[in-house]
Amino acid sequence: MRKIQTWSKLALVSLATATLVACGGSDKAEETAKVEKKVETIEWKMVTTWPKNFPGLGTGAENLAKSINDMSNGRLNITVYAAGELVPPLEVFDAVSRGTAQMGHGAAYYWKGKAPAAQFFTAVPFGFTAQEINSWIHHGGGLKLWEEIYAPFNLIPMAAGNTGVQMGGWFNKEINSLEDFQGLKMRIPGLGGEVLKKVGGTPINLPGGEIFTSLQTGAIDATEFVGPYNDLAFGLYKAAKFYYYPGWHEPGSTMEALFNKEAFEALPQDLQLIVRAATRQANAEMLDEFTALNNSALQTLVNEHNVILKPFPADVLSALKKASDETLEEVASADPLSRKVYDSFKDFGSKVRAWHEVSERAYINGRETE
Ligand code: CA
Repeated sequence: MRKIQTWSKLALVSLATATLVACGGSDKAEETAKVEKKVETIEWKMVTTWPKNFPGLGTGAENLAKSINDMSNGRLNITVYAAGELVPPLEVFDAVSRGTAQMGHGAAYYWKGKAPAAQFFTAVPFGFTAQEINSWIHHGGGLKLWEEIYAPFNLIPMAAGNTGVQMGGWFNKEINSLEDFQGLKMRIPGLGGEVLKKVGGTPINLPGGEIFTSLQTGAIDATEFVGPYNDLAFGLYKAAKFYYYPGWHEPGSTMEALFNKEAFEALPQDLQLIVRAATRQANAEMLDEFTALNNSALQTLVNEHNVILKPFPADVLSALKKASDETLEEVASADPLSRKVYDSFKDFGSKVRAWHEVSERAYINGRETE
């Protein structure tokens, strides 16, 4: 209570000073106006593809906005809009492109209808892990290509979060061979869905909010979502009991922040740097959060909800890998920019995999020996 009273007194003193200054003649009034101009706040809108308070992804967008506000000492104030509040989720790209909002938060594979090459910047089946895609984007030429894809749309992209390796999904029957995918109706968006189609399954694209009911009523036989943290929160264990790993279709999904080019370039240079630094920080922060929370949520699913955790059989993964390679080749053949991105992706991929054989894999295998 004492502290509050102290602050109240200080506030009163400030008010009194401000009044004196205002009455102190034209020089002082000019001085005050200059000070006020210096702390002028720029107001931005951020539209997102996420439902309100959506764990990890939506909260990641909220944290990014708060971080930019805090780091700029309130000079750049960003109001975040959940999916549907200002524009529908799949109109985020267009809304930022035309300047309805100055920035957006989502995932690049949502825009494959406008820019097919964008899909490489979210998740590629059997593609990069989080560590690898970050390395490609920031040190392997990826960001330059991503910027080239978005430039005709008046947009600037940045990586703004990563889920890490996702889970393979929830199934109401065991997957023992590729035959078990025949006729399987599974919610699986993006390139993973195309791969499922190639091995005889039926990919269904459902928004997050409809997954649980569809699985419980049998409208779908299986679903992927994110990982233990999100899947536990959605209660998916109540609708299917087999939980498969790994998430071959989304091995390190990158979230994106996208910026209206004119709005970004109109910012003073220090605010541009703050936006870049805060986005880079948000990119790392989301992966840290997912890694910690997935770990504890998986223990809860297995130990408290008796979920049956199973790996996909090796020959099933091998067949899915083959189908993925064919799918990627088809995507790359569709337009020159996709080919250019796929070539860079493959080139960097082969080099980083060679390094990870002698670093990550050798270390993780070595760590497990008794
Ligand atoms: Ca997913």
